[in-house]
Amino acid sequence: MTQLRSTRGEAGDGAPAPKTVSGSRGLLQAASLLFETGSADRSGVDFPEAQGLPDRLGGLRRKAPVGLVGLSEPEAVRHYVRLSQRNYAIDLGFFPLGSCTMKHNPRLNERMARLPGLSDLHPLQPASTVQGAFELMAELAHWLLELTGLDAVAMSPKAGAHGELCGMLAIRQALIARGEGETRKRVIVPASAHGTNPATAAACGFVVDEIGATEEGRVNMEALREKLGPDVAGIMLTNPNTCGLFERDIKEIADLIHEAGGYFYCDGANYNAIVGRVRPGDLGVDAMHINLHKTFSTPHGGGGPGAGPTVLSAALAPYAPIPHLVRRDDGALDLIEHAAEAAGQPFGRMCAFHGQMGMFVRALSYMMSHGADGLRQAAEDAVLNANYILARLKERFNAPFAASGPCMHEALFDDSSIRAHGLETIDLAKALIDEGYHPFTTYFPLVVHGAMLIEPTDTEPKAELDRFADVMIALADRAASGDQSHFKTAPRLAPVRRLDETGAARKPKLRWRPEEAFKHAAE
Ligand SMILES: *Cc1c(COP(=O)(O)O)cnc(C)c1O
Repeated sequence: MTQLRSTRGEAGDGAPAPKTVSGSRGLLQAASLLFETGSADRSGVDFPEAQGLPDRLGGLRRKAPVGLVGLSEPEAVRHYVRLSQRNYAIDLGFFPLGSCTMKHNPRLNERMARLPGLSDLHPLQPASTVQGAFELMAELAHWLLELTGLDAVAMSPKAGAHGELCGMLAIRQALIARGEGETRKRVIVPASAHGTNPATAAACGFVVDEIGATEEGRVNMEALREKLGPDVAGIMLTNPNTCGLFERDIKEIADLIHEAGGYFYCDGANYNAIVGRVRPGDLGVDAMHINLHKTFSTPHGGGGPGAGPTVLSAALAPYAPIPHLVRRDDGALDLIEHAAEAAGQPFGRMCAFHGQMGMFVRALSYMMSHGADGLRQAAEDAVLNANYILARLKERFNAPFAASGPCMHEALFDDSSIRAHGLETIDLAKALIDEGYHPFTTYFPLVVHGAMLIEPTDTEPKAELDRFADVMIALADRAASGDQSHFKTAPRLAPVRRLDETGAARKPKLRWRPEEAFKHAAE
């Protein structure tokens, strides 16, 4: 909960921050909390006073007012529109945070998702009345299997992390079926892994065993060989990895893990860099989630739910969760809802129904409108754009793995070049906000100091990449000129200035109390 009104004072260094009588800045309106705008005795709708009805509440009638504020409709609309104008969006400008947060969501996807017959289905409708929706899910599953070269796909996981859980539960079930559920407990996870990987392995009852990276940012094969043994359940590996590099030894990694009796879980969050170029199934992957909301453009975060279908190899397919679709002899599709009806031994279910139908429609719409060649082109353009950023910025910002060759869809820099001028990654990120850019991914991956991970995505034109690179270079010049305060006091022009992020995380204010004078975090 953020107080926007109190943020327009003087900048911390005494530099004049725009101060207005109204609290608005230009046409950006001052925004108060709902509780400050409305009042408890106001209502947006007029209900007639109920007359002559018996009280059926059995003495449970509220004695004190509930304390919610009332607003007229225009006041409510303005409140949310003002808030939305403080939100940065991919539809507003370049987002160096990349597909990890949002890539462009073509409007065609939205039209398809709103089609009557797709948007107004109920998950409990009889199967005979939703054959079209089932066909759509089967078609999407077909594309996913064709693109990945794997054998089965669980459609129901609702995010990447949920898909990881699905894949690792399938691995656990396969080990139990082999009678090795108790003996194979160790899961190898590289140090550069996304935090969800070790968290998932631990949540499934495995023990996480970390391996380091080589100087060039890839899996250390020597370290991996040393870790293998009869207690290894598998490896969780992201490819392309979180340093933005393709793991060139991936086939050998798969062979080694299989020889040791384990399974290969691939974190597919970066699949958008290789779609149509290589099939994970051919690389020896046993399970991989696909973030439809990263690779296939469906909105997420503030824009909507994610979807994390998980593809499985022949070895894991029998353990896929329910529900799943099967085609009957008469051509109709049936939803297998119970383990007893399934051909394999499902480990259970991931969620109440079938998954994120709205996202399925958007992802299939994206795939069909791009076609096989268009999907490959999107992956190639994402990689090309990231390499353009790497090429333009590597003279001014240290790219620790630039010697390892071209990057995939993200360019990684560390903070050594700005640290020399007394600045940290966060200072640069905040200065970018004043320039109209949402910051890139900061401080991740952890394997480099003060990481800056820039992912431009496939849809940015060269002119936009140049504009961003010019700003980054100008900021590097400014840092080199010794103008530290420009960075340390940034952002100056944003609705809120530099916040005490640690305080906000450690001591979040979760309740608004009218009697408490609001103290702003840190300005
Ligand atoms: C985004 C991401 C995840 C998690 O996916 P969610 O859909 O956010 O749950 C896992 N691993 C990597 C490498 C990611 O980028």
